[in-house]
Amino acid sequence: MVLKVSYSFHLLIERLTNCLYKSAYNMNQEIDLRFEPIDLFYSKLEHAKDLIRDSIKQFPKIAVACSFGKDSMVVVDIARKVDFHIPIFAIMTIHKPKETFEYLIKMNELMHLNVKVYIVADQIPRILKDANIETVLLPADEYNRESAICRKEIYVEKPDLCCDLLKVHPTRVAVKDLDAWCCGLRNTEGRTRLDYEEIENKGGLYKINPILTFTEEEVFQYLHNNGIPLHPWYEFEFEDGRRYRSLGCATCTKPIYPEQLEREGRWINTSKCGGECGIHTKYLK
Ligand code: SF4
Repeated sequence: MVLKVSYSFHLLIERLTNCLYKSAYNMNQEIDLRFEPIDLFYSKLEHAKDLIRDSIKQFPKIAVACSFGKDSMVVVDIARKVDFHIPIFAIMTIHKPKETFEYLIKMNELMHLNVKVYIVADQIPRILKDANIETVLLPADEYNRESAICRKEIYVEKPDLCCDLLKVHPTRVAVKDLDAWCCGLRNTEGRTRLDYEEIENKGGLYKINPILTFTEEEVFQYLHNNGIPLHPWYEFEFEDGRRYRSLGCATCTKPIYPEQLEREGRWINTSKCGGECGIHTKYLK
């Protein structure tokens, strides 16, 4: 039997347990805590649904951002279990792996996502056109101009600028008419994500992070439990044990070891290694 508990109760239990352990440690005593098993993951899940449900009520103009990475797929699925018609948007770039485009098309069809894609490019990628994906094409003039004056590739020489032009700018366009957006940001993903909160307000635009406390294992567990296929890059395992654990543009995503933090494979050998593209750090309105 699954015991349904509220998230605040789960936090209370965690804190109480920590307190008891600390006291026992201070007294140099062993402690034996005999709690009935509590399905904490279930409580996190219910909490995520409640958060989305409340957000939809509070912010009628809300959408879910989906990068088609593992975390996004969890949020999208949870949000659609609350409201099947919640809008989904994706910011794609010309540097995303072809497998991400293929996965987007596959999942859009499989889950009836009706996803709206925003992309800075000279033309809509053929693969999106052929699949009839609703796409907003944004001008690439500035990106092309800046790329032309770089000695190396722009994503190597000026990755912040590259992300700004290809990711942050299109996200600003995507959220222009929204009151709030949901995304799959999680605290344990990397050094830059420790201090986020479930509800953020930046300049009047609210961001909801429903799976903030999920672990990487819980994300994979959710996808498995709900029959959601994985992006194929998560399936690769290199001989030395490295795997892709956080997906972005192909140019800036590398496989990493299990003991590393998930985002340590992003922007390796650049000034922003393991960091952020800017959509979660910059003002979007
Ligand atoms: S992830 Fe790399 S290629 Fe993609 S927008 Fe950022 S810097 Fe450019």
